[in-house]
Order: sequence, then C-alpha cells, then structure tokens
Amino acid sequence: MSKPDLHFNSLTIHGGQKPDPSTGAVMQPIFQTSTFAQAAPGEHQGYEYARSKNPTRSALEKSIASLEAAAHGLAFGSGLAAIDAVLKLLKPGDEVIASNDLYGGTYRLFTSTFKQFGIKFQFVDLGEDGALKGALNSDSKMLWIESPTNPMMNIVDIAAVAKEAKESGLVVVVDNTFASPYLQQPLNLGADIVMHSATKYLAGHSDVVLGLLATNSEVLAGRLAFIQNSSGAICGPMDAFLCLRGIKTLHLRMQRHCENGRALAEYLKEHPEVSAVYWPGFKNHPGHNVASAQMRDFGGMLSFRLKQDTKEEAVRFLRKLRVFTLAESLGGVESLAGHPASMTHASLPPEERAQLGISEGLIRLSVGVEDIRDLIADVSQALDNLKS
Ligand SMILES: *Cc1c(COP(=O)(O)O)cnc(C)c1O
Repeated sequence: MSKPDLHFNSLTIHGGQKPDPSTGAVMQPIFQTSTFAQAAPGEHQGYEYARSKNPTRSALEKSIASLEAAAHGLAFGSGLAAIDAVLKLLKPGDEVIASNDLYGGTYRLFTSTFKQFGIKFQFVDLGEDGALKGALNSDSKMLWIESPTNPMMNIVDIAAVAKEAKESGLVVVVDNTFASPYLQQPLNLGADIVMHSATKYLAGHSDVVLGLLATNSEVLAGRLAFIQNSSGAICGPMDAFLCLRGIKTLHLRMQRHCENGRALAEYLKEHPEVSAVYWPGFKNHPGHNVASAQMRDFGGMLSFRLKQDTKEEAVRFLRKLRVFTLAESLGGVESLAGHPASMTHASLPPEERAQLGISEGLIRLSVGVEDIRDLIADVSQALDNLKS
C-alpha cells in the first residue's frame, strides 16, 4: 500500500522508508555485506556489489530525497566526499563562482585539489548587488552557495542568485548544512543540487561523518551516481543507519535548536561584555528579510564578539564554559563553542579573516537542545567571571 502525501514532520520518520520485505523489521536493517548472490549472471534483486548499491544506503538516499523535495538522493562518506563528487561534474577550464565566506574545508578542496586539475574559482560576496553579474563569464559553469554562512551568519537570497545564474546556464549548488531541510529547501528556491554535511544537523548526534546530495535532475543524478560508483567515496551501511536514525527526530531537534538559539541570541545582545551578536533572527541583521522569506526559522547557530576583542579574552571565556564543550563541528544535540580565528578559519590569511569580520574575540556557538536555563547560566557565569 502506498503512503499518502505526508508533511515534513512525518517524512523525517517515513520518507522513503518501509518495513523490510523479507522480515517485516520496522527499522531499516544494516546490510553489512560487500556482495549479493546472483541466481545466474546478471540475475539478481537489484543489488550486486555494495560500492554500487547497498539497501541501507538506498534507504538513506530515499530519505534525503523526500526531505529536500527531490527525485534523487546520494550518500557519501563525508560532506567533503559529496562536494568532491559534485566538482567532478566539471572539466579543466570550467569555473566555479562561490560565496566568499565558504566552509574552510570546501575552500581548501577547491583551491588545493581541484585547482591543480584546471578548475577555476572566483570567490564573491553573493549578498552584494551585482556581484554575481560582475563575475559571470563564458567559463563559469557552477555557482556554489552557502546560506547562512559560517561563522558570520550572512544570508544569500538563494532564489534571486539561482535565477540569475541559471539564465547563464550555470549548475546551482547549495550547501544546506547550516539550515537543514527543516529550515530551508533550496531545490524549491531554484537550486539544481543540494548538498549536506549530514555529520551536523541531519545525523544530529555527533556520532557519524557523512555527506548527502539531492537533485531533481535525472541527468545530474545519473552523472553523480556514476561518479559515486567510479570514485567510490560511499558511506558504510552502519553510518547510513545512524544517519537514518538521527533524521527521525530532525524536526523535534530543529524546533528546540531554534528556540534555544533565539533565547541565547537575545540574552547575549543585552550583555555588557558582548559588543555584537550575529544571528539572522534580529530585525537589524542585514539578511533578516531574506532569511524570513526563505527559512522557516533562524536555526541554532550564532556568533558573537566579546567587548574586549582579543584572543586572550576569548580563551578566558572558553576555558570557563562548563556545559558548552569547546570543539569543532556543530549541529549535534549537545551545545558546542568554537573560536573561528584559531579553529575553523585558522587557514585563512589574517587580512582575509579581518575582512570577513572574524576577529580574535569572535566566538561561534552551536546551540544544542539542552534546557535553555542551563545554557544561559553557563554563558552567563563565563561572561561575568571574565574579569576574575
Ligand atoms: C562540516 C561541513 C562541511 C564538510 O562536511 P564533512 O562531513 O566534515 O566532510 C561542509 N560544509 C559545511 C557548511 C560544513 O559545516
């Protein structure tokens, strides 16, 4: 019996999922096998060798497709492996136009690995009027968007830039890691491919590294599946299972991440030791109107600047935290704090960091789903004790 059309909060649980036909198992089984029996050469049940296809991975691929309102999903061993597959759609001489404040690992993959194969890159401020038009040329083949960006929480008008890029024939890709499909569905805004580091909100429990792609294009899906199989950067069945299990509570977690993010942003804004808070839910955030239109809510990521804008002050603050953990990554149930200038963005030249607003006293928070009273108390005691 086919399922009725479901709402997002039901698709997280049921999207692309059905009880295992051989046993009735309600949860997707972990098919820990590399190969599948054939009755005669080429006569099989759709699975031959697990690099090409594995039923646990297939279930996850159907799940992300349903959450991103896509026809096709693909799963990889990490977010960067998924990005690597997308870049392999290009050939030498082709150019990618990308947001100028990309995730550091994406920037490194572009400029250290793909540059040496003759792919060209231009980094522009996609929030600036006319920036994309000024960058477009006959070699431009792909537009790479992040919104909100890391760690300054800048917002790109996805529908507007996607429209402009597609008029020039570019493939439009959105890294939707920070928002998750609960908050934002880029394919519905005109993107061709949506990419996730599922390591973050989708899996949501800081226990797996995994990447996902989704698209409505038959042609792009076919080429990406070919690259997935021929390059082989797939995820294992256990990791696919963990991600599927995490996705079942995505809507519940995101709702709480958003509530806690809002409460903490508002608390920090009033604190005398804080000079600025970057969170798109504030009416005076430059991307607020676009974020309100293209996102369901404003998420659990925020950054703030300490009044005394130095590394020493940032380290003093981070050392005093007791509930927030100082760590790379984001999007898990537990709250994390980071120092972008020395952690995620350490590889950027200092002048570029300064230009983006990533000063030494900037702190990034991934607000988790704990009791908000404990999170505010933790940040409060750390800020209040900075002088001692
Ligand atoms: C973490 C992250 C990536 C890379 O994903 P991995 O799973 O770590 O390989 C890409 N983009 C963004 C926005 C991320 O936060």
